[in-house]
Amino acid sequence: MNIQEIIKKSIKRLELEGKLLTPDFYAEAFCKEASKAGFNVEDCSKLDKFKSMLNKEFQEEFKKYHLKTISEFAHFLISRLNRTTPSHCANLLESQTVFTRRVLQVVEALHNKEAAELARKSLELLNRTSSPAEIDQYRQLWINFITTYDDTFLQKLKLLGAVDTTNLRKTVENLNLQNANFALSKPFELSNVASLLVASLVPSIASEVNEKIATISQKIKKDPSLLESSSIEAEIKSAISLRIALDKQSVKEMIESIDGVLDKLSLRLIEMIESSDNSTIEIQKIKKELESYNGSGIANFAIAHKKLYTIAVALEENTQALTKDLKKHSGEVAILSKRVEQLEQELERAKEQSKEDFLTKLFNKRALDEFMNIKEAEFARYQKNFTVVFFDLDFFKAVNDTYGHDAGDAVLFTFAKILKQEARNVDIVGRYGGEEFIAILGETDLDGGVIFADKVRSKVQNARMMYKERRIELTVSCGVSERKTRFSLQSTIKAADEALYKAKQNGRNRVETK
Ligand code: GH3
Ligand code: MG
Ligand code: MG
Repeated sequence: MNIQEIIKKSIKRLELEGKLLTPDFYAEAFCKEASKAGFNVEDCSKLDKFKSMLNKEFQEEFKKYHLKTISEFAHFLISRLNRTTPSHCANLLESQTVFTRRVLQVVEALHNKEAAELARKSLELLNRTSSPAEIDQYRQLWINFITTYDDTFLQKLKLLGAVDTTNLRKTVENLNLQNANFALSKPFELSNVASLLVASLVPSIASEVNEKIATISQKIKKDPSLLESSSIEAEIKSAISLRIALDKQSVKEMIESIDGVLDKLSLRLIEMIESSDNSTIEIQKIKKELESYNGSGIANFAIAHKKLYTIAVALEENTQALTKDLKKHSGEVAILSKRVEQLEQELERAKEQSKEDFLTKLFNKRALDEFMNIKEAEFARYQKNFTVVFFDLDFFKAVNDTYGHDAGDAVLFTFAKILKQEARNVDIVGRYGGEEFIAILGETDLDGGVIFADKVRSKVQNARMMYKERRIELTVSCGVSERKTRFSLQSTIKAADEALYKAKQNGRNRVETK
């Protein structure tokens, strides 16, 4: 086999193994094919020769990396040459650790709580034998710290004046300067606070201000700088307690008075429930409102609330029962009121048709007019004469005025009795109006009429009329007229009236004719 064939086989081998035709792959394939063909190529054993020249430690490393080409071997050597000696490494590590420690100690002393804590823990880590994993963990913690570190709060200080965020000492010095300026403007600030404080000491409910509160308020108002002294604190505290006590007392008094009112109210309401037809809806509204007030802070209010609520519930229950009752009975009530209306109408009709005077039980004017018409008709047909007598009580107004209207009524009733007694059965007597009476005497002439009238007059004069154990003196004047000497009924009546007028004119308590 010649060299060309070995070259061909080498290329074929690379194709079969799917490798690219690089110098390294080619050299490897060529050496394999050459040794297969029994050729000893010096270049192919060069790597083994170099390897045998290495010390044992390096030979082990050589094996570990599976070095196959001269160029890989060259890389290997270069990397070994770049590596420093172990003793040099140890020293370097030592000084780096010391350096790190110092840096951490400094960080710990700086004024950042988080950083100081992390520095302290990192120092602990360096003081013991720690694994690379632990060191890595702390490295990450430091990265986290710096990533999340936020010093924008320092910007706020800028409001107070020149602030150097890179130099905290300078910043603090600036702040002190600012504080000194504040101190200069203090009296003005304190006077504002003082007036606020004084206002807050005044009781909010109680109407009177206690003397102690007034004194301390005056003091603070007068000299606001007192607020800076520590002794004033106790005084203010005690004034506040006093203020609260005053308010509490006022509330208590108010509640007590409300309580009294509520008690009266509940009694009054119970009375009202029995007579009123208040709508249930209104009361339910009150109840709902009261429910919404429930849970208010002051215990006494809770009692008042409870009372009101009880009243509302009682009202509701009672009015509901009343409404129910009322509904039940409203039908009957409607029927009854209709019936009452009818009865009233009937009564009115009956009154209209009545012929009896309600007070004296004699005939009334309506009946008297009817009778006179009948007498007139009888006169016209049968020439039956009749006489009319008019009676009018004397000074009757004075009876009413002196003894009262009831006494007047009693006198009217007594006179009617006398008139009825003196008349015959066939005579018609009645009350014509007020204190005026009429007698229609059938088949009687003027003289007969005068006799009758005078009999009545005399009886009245002598009657012992008593009212409530007091004697009432009474007389009556009379006018008499006869039909047959007159043209008509009307003229007869008119003549009797005129005769009566004459009797009054002539001194009363007498009988006159016409
Ligand atoms: P004279 O002698 O002029 O008739 O005087 P007098 O007061 O009787 O007459 P006058 O007409 O001035 O008064 C009549 C009074 O009769 C006035 C009225 O109040 C009273 N009178 C009329 N009807 C009734 C009645 O039904 N009961 C009572 N108690 N008084 C009545
Ligand atoms: Mg009269
Ligand atoms: Mg009279």
